[in-house]
Amino acid sequence: MSILSRRDGPRADSAPLIEECGDWRVGAACLAKDPELFFPLGTGSEAVAQTVAAKSVCQGCRARQACLEWALGRDGRGRVRGEFGVWGGLSETERRAERRRRSRRAVRPEAAA
Ligand code: SF4
Repeated sequence: MSILSRRDGPRADSAPLIEECGDWRVGAACLAKDPELFFPLGTGSEAVAQTVAAKSVCQGCRARQACLEWALGRDGRGRVRGEFGVWGGLSETERRAERRRRSRRAVRPEAAA
């Protein structure tokens, strides 16, 4: 069975595994959660509540920063990896804002201040 198996759930002792295999997903707090929680549909109150619930899982995730960086990155075809859903504790709207902020900072470093 893979160490990334959802059936195992999050591993409290995952830090050594993360170092060993270099894969941040080993420490993901969402491994034992329903993946659909992280992909709310629509913009209504149910979707907002679902986003809040997903973000609360991310708050306690030791892989949060690595997850966010992965989601902000692009795949081999130049497509944004984490276009939809909650990744790294941010909604898709918040990640778009973060990408814009980083782009501005790359073009005009003084804009970061
Ligand atoms: S930050 Fe959130 S979405 Fe990313 S691995 Fe952790 S729990 Fe999952």
